[in-house]
Amino acid sequence: MRYISTRGSAPTLSFEEVTLTGLASDGGLYLPQGWPSFSADDIRAMRGQPYAEIAARVMAPFVGDSLSFEELRGLTEEAYGRFSHAAVVPLVQLDHQHWLMELFHGPTLAFKDVALQMLGLLFETFLARRGEQLTLVGATSGDTGSAAIDAVAGRDGVEIFMLHPQGRISDVQRRQMTTVRAPNIHNIAISGSFDDGQAAVKRMFTDTEIAGKIRLGAVNSINWARLMAQVVYYFTTAVQLGAPERSVAFSVPTGNFGDVFAGYVASKMGLPVEQLIVATNVNDILHRALSDGDYSAGTVTPTAAPSMDIQVSSNFERLLFDVGGRDGAVMAEQMRGFETSKAMQLTNSQREGAATRFTSVRVDQDAMAHSMRRAFENSGEVIDPHTAIGLYAAYQADIAPDVPIVTLATAHPAKFRDAVERATGTRPPLPTRVGDLFAREEACTELSGDYDELTDFILTNAAQAHG
Ligand SMILES: *Cc1c(COP(=O)(O)O)cnc(C)c1O
Repeated sequence: MRYISTRGSAPTLSFEEVTLTGLASDGGLYLPQGWPSFSADDIRAMRGQPYAEIAARVMAPFVGDSLSFEELRGLTEEAYGRFSHAAVVPLVQLDHQHWLMELFHGPTLAFKDVALQMLGLLFETFLARRGEQLTLVGATSGDTGSAAIDAVAGRDGVEIFMLHPQGRISDVQRRQMTTVRAPNIHNIAISGSFDDGQAAVKRMFTDTEIAGKIRLGAVNSINWARLMAQVVYYFTTAVQLGAPERSVAFSVPTGNFGDVFAGYVASKMGLPVEQLIVATNVNDILHRALSDGDYSAGTVTPTAAPSMDIQVSSNFERLLFDVGGRDGAVMAEQMRGFETSKAMQLTNSQREGAATRFTSVRVDQDAMAHSMRRAFENSGEVIDPHTAIGLYAAYQADIAPDVPIVTLATAHPAKFRDAVERATGTRPPLPTRVGDLFAREEACTELSGDYDELTDFILTNAAQAHG
């Protein structure tokens, strides 16, 4: 399997190379040259298999010859063996049509663990093989940071610089990053929003001065391997609910369009996906883009679902490229326009292509709180604000009554316990696996978000830059 850039002019890469690369050198995002396809028999054969086995089967065509099947399965067993639930991603029924897919049983209580535990092992495996080192830089709206830090803390060959928007993430999210005291972990709080952090990180990947000094890698969902690992749970869930004979709809609380894009990939691979519901909060650029073609960034409004407080959704470019005819030159021009004016109009083919699989719902704060209360009162389920947005959208969507609708439960409610308590009156306890989070000391550097100051800090502190 080879990987190509959405902007058409970066070199094609193998899976190993694409894992160790961030943004493509032309500013685009890497995608497989074509979609692997699974037959109905392949999907049926997943029934009754453990998560780690299905994960290896779903990822194998993307990994190509970068790992043998046995090596790959060794990694999936190790990564998913760290989850606190034997099903890894269990399903919970809410009523006759609605289900929750619990993605938060990993070490840092959010779905990001599912991909990042795997990515940490892939980094370690590939870097050891090449005898190389990698400096990861990332921007987080909260959950990517903690999951990435847990996944690479103390691992050989990698170090990480993680930026978070100061004061805009929950105390649990912050502490899960800042209390991990390994020498290869660097936390940076910047004044500004997640989008500001992400813009700086993206700029670093195309900054030749930095590229000349250190090898940069990405843990954000611009990294293809992350999306690949997220494709798996669409398969495991749909198979449990009757695929390939029955199709399933998914409602996905969305920020950077990574998780829901993985659902799109699953459908391209032959999984019968009835519809993908893109649930946004009031930061609704994706809802506007999908409902009337208007992809224009507003200012970010902080909400109780901070991992969705995003106005520029990196992975949307992957969708536009794929549904718009995979023309890198056209995509490059469209994105250059967006980067200057912060606004663009989807083409007709992009709109029609997206409409075949996606629908979208914008969910405000009141609706989110209502959704938390409804899940608690009707089914006794305490859900987090992100999941509540997904679930609200699931109830709004127009889906035939015989199609199961699965909402992705993307975070453990204890990760956002203040917001959960406000809405439901119940304060979810932190699971014992997070240990003495509130007793541990924090370490974090505060920076303004100025690009030169930031890159200076990274070059000064990167072990890699000093041999
Ligand atoms: C990251 C995150 C999201 C958004 O996922 P994307 O892949 O960025 O769309 C939703 N909910 C939670 C809890 C998250 O951590």
